Parts: sequence; structure tokens; C-alpha cells
Amino acid sequence: MTRYIFITGGVVSSLGKGLMAASLAALLQARGYRVRIRKFDPYLNVDPGTMSPYQHGEVYVTDDGAETDLDLGHYERFTGVSARQSDNVTQGRVYQTIITRERRGDYLGATVQVIPHVTDEIKAFATADTEGLDFVLCEIGGTVGDIESLPFMEAIRQLHNDLDRGQSIFVHVTLVPYIAAAGELKTKPTQHSVRELTSLGIQPDILLCRCEHPLPESERRKIALFCNVRPEAVIPALDASSIYAVPAQYHAEGLDAEVLRAFGIADTTAPSLERWADIMDRQQNPEGEVTIGVVGKYVGLPDAYKSLHEALTHGGFANRVKVNIKWIDAELFEKGDDLAASLEPMHGILVPGGFGVRGSEGKIASVRFARERDVPFFGICLGMQMACIEGARNTAGITQASTTEFGETSEPVVGLITEWMSAEGLQKRTAETDLGGTMRLGAYPARLDGNSVVAGIYGGTEISERHRHRYEVNAGYREPLEKGGLNFSGMSPDGTLPEIVERPDHPWFVGVQFHPELKSKPFDPHPLFASFIEAAVKQSRLV
Ligand code: GLN
Repeated sequence: MTRYIFITGGVVSSLGKGLMAASLAALLQARGYRVRIRKFDPYLNVDPGTMSPYQHGEVYVTDDGAETDLDLGHYERFTGVSARQSDNVTQGRVYQTIITRERRGDYLGATVQVIPHVTDEIKAFATADTEGLDFVLCEIGGTVGDIESLPFMEAIRQLHNDLDRGQSIFVHVTLVPYIAAAGELKTKPTQHSVRELTSLGIQPDILLCRCEHPLPESERRKIALFCNVRPEAVIPALDASSIYAVPAQYHAEGLDAEVLRAFGIADTTAPSLERWADIMDRQQNPEGEVTIGVVGKYVGLPDAYKSLHEALTHGGFANRVKVNIKWIDAELFEKGDDLAASLEPMHGILVPGGFGVRGSEGKIASVRFARERDVPFFGICLGMQMACIEGARNTAGITQASTTEFGETSEPVVGLITEWMSAEGLQKRTAETDLGGTMRLGAYPARLDGNSVVAGIYGGTEISERHRHRYEVNAGYREPLEKGGLNFSGMSPDGTLPEIVERPDHPWFVGVQFHPELKSKPFDPHPLFASFIEAAVKQSRLV
């Protein structure tokens, strides 16, 4: 039997519901259960693919090519379970499905309504594709009381009724704020939030109370009494020192035990948390530190590069060092900031993925600095494209080298891709194609040159990595670029699309067209990040 855990949030947004869901799933997994986590997003975009990182943070891409909420990245990092398209649905997608069906005439004269049509669609999404799972955790985005999330609340209320008794529970995440003037933690917002939830027909089974100070027993009892839950089901969730400390911390507070109890499952064996203890040991007892300069565009919002931040941290775990990340706005180098002064203290330079021309000359100048000064360099997606343009301009004499993304150019070293092979067959696009969901998305295989640096790093020549881009390095420029020392060491299996470039005569210089950061896990750091940080450690001994 597959059991469902519905996770809602109250009082304020940004309580870390995603992290909580990921941590609970990890704890259940550590007890031997098979889990999957899903995210319901109440906004009307069909997916976050067209949203600015400033609106929504990073767009997380799955193997099957879905552009999803960044919480799915947490889910994967904490459980190792690869997320799928069917694990993230937005209200926009729900409506798109229903309206397409309505236009086709599928409703046969019926009036199409929120209840039952929208709610049925949400329920179908929650219960689809659950073969072999013990637990499905469904996180509802937004905060209780939002107009937008009402159909989702109604759908989980109905689903709780439709399922057998004991087959689903509700976990509500709230905030218990500390009022400094009174020197007290306040439970009233939690009471109001639960009242709001019960008015929608949902009685939470477990309350997870985020707080900055320990929750006194008296307040725990008060919340239990007013919110109609047992005191043990009021779980304090204090701020953690690191996101990777959260599973063990929630376990110590009894979260997983209470969840099983709410389902009536008598499971007394303790979860095996060695994996998390090892991660915490590596994080808390580093043997050194390195500083990586990330030269990008969305540096004002750390969430825009969430997976990248985590993957660099994982690279640190692999080498037992702390990784300090310096976010550097590429545009400042174009406005006169001293590039050498900013980059000289860095033990590694990374140019991440991105879109648009803004800051691109600053990125290209940073690549050049890394190449000329022998500083470890890692270019990801747009970062690889910038490395190719830099190589073309400064080592191959193609001074006009550019990408068609930035406007017309006589030397399209990077160009719009209009045809490529995918697992589903030949894909075709034009410059006029819709922007939403039309990039080269998801997992694609690549073949590495057996003698390359990257083949050594991966320990093999066949890889599969996740993509999200519209432009490609133009293989027609391979010869001049390789003469300039930039080797095309990874290609698509048909040999047409450059996937990896590297400079074998440089301490560490790799550009990849895909996003390796999406697949890195704290307990299984991505080999490219482990190797890049290793090179940065060597660099730190030189400077
Ligand atoms: N803008 C580039 C493209 O579309 C790179 C995208 C990215 O870095 N994710 O190809």
C-alpha cells in the first residue's frame, strides 16, 4: 500500500517546507521505505521555465526534461531518487490540461468547474505513477489562506477521504516567532493558521514548528491543546547549522517516529543515519578551505544558483575542505571594476549557466584571466560557450567570435540549434518557436575521448548529463579551437554536438554544455566538482 503525507505551510512563506519534506523522506528512506516527493505549485505558469531566477530561484531540470521547482533539487539531493516530470505540477499546467480537453470536446456538454474537474486533475496527479512506493510526500506550495492554493487544499482534503483510513496524514509547518520585547515565543500565529486549515476541512496530524529558540514544554502543550493534536505531535524545528544537519535534528525531535505513529505503523527499529553523520563530520571538521569565484549574473539571489552552491559544497566534502563561494557580478568588470584584483585571491573560477548578453564580456574576460594565469576554471553551459568564444578570439585569431544569442554575428562560434536527436527522435526548432519548454532539455548521453582529462575524472567514456539550453558550440570551429589548445573532448553520440571542452596544457580547465550540478549529492559528490575542488586545493597551496 502506498501511503500519502500531505505537507502544508502556514503563517509565512519561506519556512523551508521543501527541506522539511526532503528531510522526512530521507528519514523514512533510512528506515528502509521507498519514497517519492512531489511538489504542487499554485501559480499559473505552466512550469517555472520561463520565469526569471529573481522571481523563482533556480529552475531545476530532471532527467526526463521537466523544468521544475528548485525544491525538487533538495528532494533529489536528500534521497538520491531521480525526480520526474510527474513530480511537479503547477496550477497553470492543471488548467492547461483541462482547457485543452475542453476544447477537444472531451467534457461532452458538461460545465467545467474547479470542483470536481480541477480537483480531480490534482488528485490524479498526486496518485499517478506510484507503483512500488511506500510513501508519497506531497508538498503544497504557498501558505494556507492564499487564494491560489485553495483548489490544492480541497483536492488533498478529498483525497484523504477517498483513501483508506490510515493511508494519509497531514503535516503542517508553521512559525512560532520570538517576540524580543516580551522575551517569549508566541503560539497565536500557529493557532490561527491551524484554524484556517481546519476551516478548509483539514485537521493536521503533525505540526512542525519552526522557531529560533527552544520551544518550552508549556508552549508545546498549549499548541497541542488549541490545535487539536497530541503534544508529542508538536515537533519543534529549530534553525539548523546546515541543511544537511536537518534530517538528524528532526529525527532527534521525533518527527519520523510521530509520522509512523500517525499511520499506526509500529516500527521500533532506528533509522540508519551514518550517511548523514559522515556528511556532518566532513562539513564540521574541514582540513582546509578554498575560495571559488563564481562570475555570473544573478549573484544577488543565492537561490538562483542553488544546485551549483550545493555541488561546490559537495566537492568540498569529497576533499574534506570548506568551500567559500564568492559571488561576483560579471557586469561590474564591464563597468570598470578591477578584474585582476577581484580574481587574484580565487583558487578557482567558475562561470555558470545563464541567459542573455548582459555581463558576457565580463565573463569572457574572466575566462581569459583563468586561462592565462593557470587558475582552475570550470565553465557550465553558458560558461562553456564563453570559454569557446574566449578561445576563438584570443587563441585562434577569430576576433569577431560570438554567439547568435547576443545578436547577429559573422563568426557564430555558438549558434542557435535547430535540429537534434533525442530519445524521442529528431527535434526541430526555429527562432520563432515559443520560449516555454522548447530548449534541449533533460538527460542526453555523451561520448568522451578516452585520452581526455574528463574521461579520467569520470572514470569512463560514456556519460549522461542534464541539459537546458537553446544554443550550441558550433562543431565547425573545432579545428581552429583545438589548434588554440581547446580540445573537444566530449561529443554527442552522433558526433555533431560539442558537450565538453578542455585545455590539457592547463592545470584544470573544463567547460561542459550540460549542468553537472543538478546530479551532485552530498553523499555522492559529482566527479567534476570533486575534481575541480581538488584542483582548487592545489592552487591554494601555490598562492
Ligand atoms: N543561454 C545559453 C543557451 O541557451 C546557455 C543556457 C544555460 O546556461 N543554461 O544555450
